[in-house]
Amino acid sequence: MAGSTNGPSAASFDLDGQLSNNDANSETSSVAASEDSSVVEAPAHKPPRIILNVRDLRRRLGQRREEPIEVTLATQKVIGSWTDDYPVTGQVVIESIERGITMFGAVTFRWRGECRRCLEETGGEQQIEIAEIFQVRSPEDSEVSDFDGDQIDLVPVVCDAVALSLPLAPLCRNDCAGPDPDRYPAMTIQQSEEAKEVERAKQGPDPRWAALSDLNLTEGD
Ligand SMILES: [Zn+2]
Repeated sequence: MAGSTNGPSAASFDLDGQLSNNDANSETSSVAASEDSSVVEAPAHKPPRIILNVRDLRRRLGQRREEPIEVTLATQKVIGSWTDDYPVTGQVVIESIERGITMFGAVTFRWRGECRRCLEETGGEQQIEIAEIFQVRSPEDSEVSDFDGDQIDLVPVVCDAVALSLPLAPLCRNDCAGPDPDRYPAMTIQQSEEAKEVERAKQGPDPRWAALSDLNLTEGD
């Protein structure tokens, strides 16, 4: 029977195991198995690509074309935030130049993260500009992307741009910073750590650590 070569999904093995003695049910079991595997099958995730064919465009220097962007990237993550599953969308213009292609445009992505003050989950949407030069046989140490002359893949460019634009120290809302902008201005992580130090020094030692200071571990001070 053709149906006996079941797909290698775990579901089909389970069903075969349960129903192997029963011929009447084995056909329904193989149907169920194949339906199962098509649902479960979100297999070996292919890395996303945005392949643009540029061979026609490159027939004439200065020729331009607009291209829509829509891609769901693998999760990009930095200290304070990460990308949402929502697709990155936008629009770019590609143009033929000598030995290559320039690309510029803008994309919008969504991110989620942890508020640096209250630690609640937060998120937002951000639009960023992207730009890249693709050149045939570009030297390895150059700033431009190498390509074969016919096709460019925009995913690495979009990925890098998104990862670099993720907020490192997000806030859930501006007033989560507290009503006093002198004490809690928008700042980098390092500045914020320094400000916390100043604040701690003003308030004196944290009472939770009082027992530690009683131990007097630091000699000679
Ligand atoms: Zn907050």
